[in-house]
Amino acid sequence: MAYEIREVSVVGTGTLGTQIALQACLHGCRVKVYDKKPSAFEIAFSNLRAKIEDSADKGMTGRFKKWKEAARRVQVCSELTEAVTGSDLVIEACPEKLVLKRKVFAEIDSLAPRGSILATNSSSIPISRIEDATKRPERCLNLHFYQVAIGMNIVDVMGGTRTARDVLECCSRWIRSIGCVPLMVKKEMLGFCFNSIWRAIKHQALHMWAEGYVNFKDIDRAWMIYFHLPQGPFGLMDQIGLDVVYDIEMVYFDESKDPRDYPPDALKEKIARQELGVKAGKGFYKYPNPEYRKSDFLIP
Ligand code: NAD
Repeated sequence: MAYEIREVSVVGTGTLGTQIALQACLHGCRVKVYDKKPSAFEIAFSNLRAKIEDSADKGMTGRFKKWKEAARRVQVCSELTEAVTGSDLVIEACPEKLVLKRKVFAEIDSLAPRGSILATNSSSIPISRIEDATKRPERCLNLHFYQVAIGMNIVDVMGGTRTARDVLECCSRWIRSIGCVPLMVKKEMLGFCFNSIWRAIKHQALHMWAEGYVNFKDIDRAWMIYFHLPQGPFGLMDQIGLDVVYDIEMVYFDESKDPRDYPPDALKEKIARQELGVKAGKGFYKYPNPEYRKSDFLIP
């Protein structure tokens, strides 16, 4: 019988880990979570609630009731051992640092059942850089979720040097079963499928802003008008978290060593001032009522 995923563990319940746990729970999985900060799940959930309440999308507010119920069913564990015991799939969603992710993978590998699948939600680090921290490289892969609770239900699925085909197929089926769309990456590449496209846009937008070519709001305006979208690249970066964006850009720089890939100093300065985006109340815009949501933002 094909391997089936029913019991899921999420390690690291900040912005993304919490959303992954909720999505899996909503679709019938038994979900256990662990974060080294005991209140992390609760904090991330209340940030999500604020984001949704603040959203212009009324459908989202309606769906939030279900997420509230799902949040009650997620089992928050105080020890990693407890969180991964009996798990079919463990998803790591810790900060974007290779050394940390390798350490966490090694810990999970020593505690989780031998047959369970280990995935990283990393936005930029290919699993081949992490898999050898475990004794089961054939059961390791990238499962890269986007902000699924606000409707971005696509997931990049990518194997490493030894990932078994049945592990990829099983995860692809599981992704569909939790209401998401798997984007299968056939050959390992930095940035996966959709994230590579987003990275090119983000990189160009950041440099145009930091080097003083344009006002960032004009980039957002153009994007919103052209693609009929409710926010532009800078609004989206605020949502992701500017510290997270910076760490991801550093992964690309470390890979290429090309000075053009180095994240702009102006971004680093914003982070030093704690202007981290939505979660900090200020990033490129001020929250909870960012200027791009005002009715006159697109009117000259
Ligand atoms: P975050 O900072 O909101 O959350 C990370 C969590 O990991 C924190 O709660 C932290 O306490 C916890 N943590 C740190 N060390 C730990 C350890 N040793 N054991 C257990 N928990 C630990 O970050 P995030 O935005 O949720 O990003 C997490 C991962 O998901 C990153 O790899 C990021 O690149 C990726 N990602 C983020 C987004 C996004 O929009 N923010 C989107 C897709 C993927």
